[in-house]
Amino acid sequence: MELLKNYIDGQWSHSREGNTIDVVNPANQEVLVKVPYGEKTVEDANQAIVVAAKALKEWRDVPVMKRVQPLYKLKQLIEENLDEIARLITLECGKSFAESKAEMQRGIENIETACATPTLMQSEFSENVAIGIDEFMIRQPIGVCACIAPFNFPGMIPFWFLPYAVACGNSFILKPSEKVPLTMMRIFELIGQLDLPKGLINLVHGGKESVDALLTHPEVKAISFVGSTPVARYIYQQGAANGKRVQAQGGAKNPVIVLPDADIEMAAKIIADSVYGCAGQRCLAASNIITVGDKNGAIKEVLLEAAKAKTTGFGLDEGIEMGPVITPESKTRIEGLIAQGVNEGAKLLLDGRNPVIPGYEAGNFLKPTILEDVALDGEVINTEIFGPVMSLLPMDTIGRAIDFVNSNSFGNMACLFTSSGLNARTFRNQANAGNIGINIGVAAPMAQFPFSGWNDSFFGDLHGQGRHAIEFFTQTKVVIERWPKEWTRKF
Ligand code: NAD
Repeated sequence: MELLKNYIDGQWSHSREGNTIDVVNPANQEVLVKVPYGEKTVEDANQAIVVAAKALKEWRDVPVMKRVQPLYKLKQLIEENLDEIARLITLECGKSFAESKAEMQRGIENIETACATPTLMQSEFSENVAIGIDEFMIRQPIGVCACIAPFNFPGMIPFWFLPYAVACGNSFILKPSEKVPLTMMRIFELIGQLDLPKGLINLVHGGKESVDALLTHPEVKAISFVGSTPVARYIYQQGAANGKRVQAQGGAKNPVIVLPDADIEMAAKIIADSVYGCAGQRCLAASNIITVGDKNGAIKEVLLEAAKAKTTGFGLDEGIEMGPVITPESKTRIEGLIAQGVNEGAKLLLDGRNPVIPGYEAGNFLKPTILEDVALDGEVINTEIFGPVMSLLPMDTIGRAIDFVNSNSFGNMACLFTSSGLNARTFRNQANAGNIGINIGVAAPMAQFPFSGWNDSFFGDLHGQGRHAIEFFTQTKVVIERWPKEWTRKF
């Protein structure tokens, strides 16, 4: 069984840690590889920090036009190997092959956007702020940057940060999720082909131990985290306490309002794709669906049909739309939340628990599930399920629906389906969330926009992607200067 290596100082090397955990195909429990996991991964992280700090000295002074050249090459290499990378994503993470390819495409778009860093990093100059005095601002790299990634987008999420950090003149350390390290192993083989200083981009494995090493080492200046809210809060607090710049993206519980004036057929299809895509394991998955004025249950009926139509199975098999959830523990947790919803008073309109998927009986499968009339004062309504479960909440007015949206402790995404521009405008003005969708089910910002979670979905100031990433990975320096005539020597 292959034991995964770290990528440190431009070379593949074994971890100092002898303990390992299994990386498992969630569709059939096949062990794919083993990954180092334990206290000695701290030594790996510390070594990566030392070499990254060294590589930085040379890289920060390479002209920015030259710093983006390896990114063009990386885009090309990923595109040439796209199918292979997508297959790895499906094998370790479970989503369908089409979803894996789409995920990687979003990663590539971030590389493309980071190629604009020569322009995005440009700054401001004011001539004559006082007589004979000019003032200007420059952006400089901040140093060694580290990224801690979650399991649900093994190929895309590191690219919300990596290309921007490197283009801005920093060095970088990635700690992928221990559940899905294979995708980035393949991508780092491609990174190894780039013309970059040794130690500029590194990968270390592990869990809490290696993360804590990154959070506490004085040479690490910035931490980019994506994962669950409790861990995001911890990373933010620990990182800040250790004097680091931190952006920590957390969990979600995304509401979608459907107004009676919406195109119901279109809305139902889009909402079902949002709830059940990636088996609900997306931080932008719709979860609470608020149907306004649906007196005769028309919206409910089309949502039910759309949910029933989803095909579930192994993501590499033809025609499969929904794969398994990541672990047996995840499956048990989701089943428990469905039962809790029923105990709190909900009706089970569609029960996807314990499906039989021929040939994949051991997989962590759930089929689309719909809970109806979920208790507004219960726990399930505000708990991230992270599985293929839709909660249906009938309400009378758009005002009540927006109040409900704004009572949520998260704030990753809120969506509205309507044909009224006025309702859309009111909603986008009032909704207490950072990513808003109007007649959109997954309001994922394109790479040039920040991934703008709010409230318990984000801790920090500057988000991942686009201009926010450029600002996060640079520090501003303001220079004010005077060149008096009398000091200028005549030749
Ligand atoms: P997680 O929080 O369990 O793990 C994320 C990373 O943190 C992993 O690399 C893990 O090794 C590390 N980690 C776990 N526990 C830690 C601890 N106690 N101390 C230090 N490091 C620790 O998250 P996950 O289960 O991998 O991912 C799913 C979660 O991520 C969901 O809540 C989802 O909503 C969220 N997510 C958010 C976004 C976003 O943009 N807001 C995007 C994707 C996923």
